[in-house]
Amino acid sequence: MTIALPILAAPNLARLRGFVVSFAELLSSTKDERSILESGGALLAQLIARDDWLPDEYAEPDPDRYRQYLIHCDSRERFSVVSFVWGPGQATPIHDHTVWGLVGVLRGAERVESFRRDARDGLVADGPTALIEAGQVDAVSPRIGDIHRVANALTDRPSVSIHVYGANIGAVRRSTFDEAGNPRGFISGYANRSLPNLWDGASPR
Ligand code: FE
Repeated sequence: MTIALPILAAPNLARLRGFVVSFAELLSSTKDERSILESGGALLAQLIARDDWLPDEYAEPDPDRYRQYLIHCDSRERFSVVSFVWGPGQATPIHDHTVWGLVGVLRGAERVESFRRDARDGLVADGPTALIEAGQVDAVSPRIGDIHRVANALTDRPSVSIHVYGANIGAVRRSTFDEAGNPRGFISGYANRSLPNLWDGASPR
């Protein structure tokens, strides 16, 4: 009896490289946040439309908590690209970003609760809970709403989303919030020590 083994294709890093080059060009062409979110969101939607480029080691869940892997940082720290990996039922605390951000779901689905500050009541819900599914892109920024809690919407398998932020997000001092809205400072860092090599001249262009 012959057992057919699946042929594992190498991750298509040229797709990720094309994305980071296009994003750097976008940021060189405009400083306008609306344009960045609109055009950058379209670039991210293109990137996550195909699931053939993310190396497995940046999609590895952790049994205890969601993971945040840096997959690219612009040399001037104008933007960073991060893969978020959520095990079943995992969620972030309520947190802010302080910079613009784009969230595109590559695998599975995520539940996003948005909040805003209210002088009297602390943090209040800002609209209904949203479900973002594979292929969809969401945005955050201090201008359009910057505080949320994100959870894996699936209870039986991991979800993976690709985020782009207007800074090296793992080095930004920002805040988590308790239910009463009391902030606590944090710097997220990243789960990984090495990055995918996008710049190998012998790999397909
Ligand atoms: Fe977030």
